[in-house]
Amino acid sequence: MQFKFHMPVKAYFGEGCVKQYGSELEAFGKKAMIVTGGSSAKTSGALDDICEVLKSLNIDHMIFDKVENNPSTANVGEGGAAARRYGAGFVIGIGGGSPLDAAKAIAVLATNDIEADELFDNSFKNKPLTTIAIPTTAGTGSEVTPYSVLTRNEAQTKGSFGTPDTFPAIAFLDPVYTETQPAAVTVNTAIDALSHCIEGYLSNRSTPASDILAQEGIRLFGECKEHLQNGAISREVRGKLLYASMLGGMVIAQTGTTIVHGAGYNYTYFKNIPHGRANGYLMAEYLRFNYSHGAEKTDNVLALLGLADINGFDALIASLIGRAPGLSDAEISKYAAITMSQRSTTYNIRPVQAQDIEDIFRKVQA
Ligand code: NAP
Ligand code: FE
Repeated sequence: MQFKFHMPVKAYFGEGCVKQYGSELEAFGKKAMIVTGGSSAKTSGALDDICEVLKSLNIDHMIFDKVENNPSTANVGEGGAAARRYGAGFVIGIGGGSPLDAAKAIAVLATNDIEADELFDNSFKNKPLTTIAIPTTAGTGSEVTPYSVLTRNEAQTKGSFGTPDTFPAIAFLDPVYTETQPAAVTVNTAIDALSHCIEGYLSNRSTPASDILAQEGIRLFGECKEHLQNGAISREVRGKLLYASMLGGMVIAQTGTTIVHGAGYNYTYFKNIPHGRANGYLMAEYLRFNYSHGAEKTDNVLALLGLADINGFDALIASLIGRAPGLSDAEISKYAAITMSQRSTTYNIRPVQAQDIEDIFRKVQA
């Protein structure tokens, strides 16, 4: 047995963890830049909590609240310039994956005089600023990954970068912050967490340790599935979803994602479909495609979810998000070609060609 497992994030999980452990921020400097979207930090209550902590520690802060959903390179470039002007000592990302990923990019751009497009080279002269991550969705697991996923308009898709230096130093995971998510965001992001666990489990880079985490994340999703279907989501269920999301992040921090993410980016870029939902449309067909190369693991996924077969999986996901939009033949071949340009396609347990991706897009249409 041989594998590497790198997980350098100190994670505090539980109700009230920001106020309880926030004094640790004292170690990171006297000027914090808070990076967030238009509303999530405020409505979730996380912004009030962190500002109270910063005040008590005499740490100044500025708020950059212009992060777009699926942030572009230009968007994080603007944040990087703001961080340099302010002289930020560390960065606090609050929100869903979009602000958390933007915070990591801004932390690199604050200390390196490079264009945002150069982030994808994954080689920075200077260490990024320390990043603190406070998720308000339960899906991306970005608080425990080194990845920053950014929209690349020139390539009409997303790209990601990440080095051992771009892991957040501390993650504060408080399920209460996820309670204000709109119902659709709760469902979409939960499916993203599930896809991280399943793609990592069925990746050719999976490890014994990442598999343990993936299986627990999948089992937890199974425990929550009826709650997601009927919308009755208690604080206890919120906790399970946030924990599953964290586990999914720990998985992909080791394995990366595979063809579901690579292909799903097309629905987001061209059809404006939220990230987790885009993944969800593709997952049942992805399981069918991979079955010949991962039967035992796929059967285990289904058992952990309490489902009889892949058709049951398909029905579960369709009950949550419906079916993928129809695509023209030209769209299908374009999207498949773009998917093949993603490094993550090489991590799929079954080797994949553009034709395979085209078939998946064709089969999942409503
Ligand atoms: P998101 O784009 O961060 O947020 C979606 C929407 O939900 C936004 O409008 C946001 O508001 C709102 N929202 C978030 N939390 C809320 C709360 N508690 N209460 C009310 N509204 C809330 O969605 P996401 O699915 O979490 O993140 C998606 C991004 O993460 C994508 O770019 C994806 O590619 C990336 N991702 C990264 C990783 C990784 O490892 N780094 C893994 C998977 C996906 P605001 O407008 O205020 O933000
Ligand atoms: Fe994802």
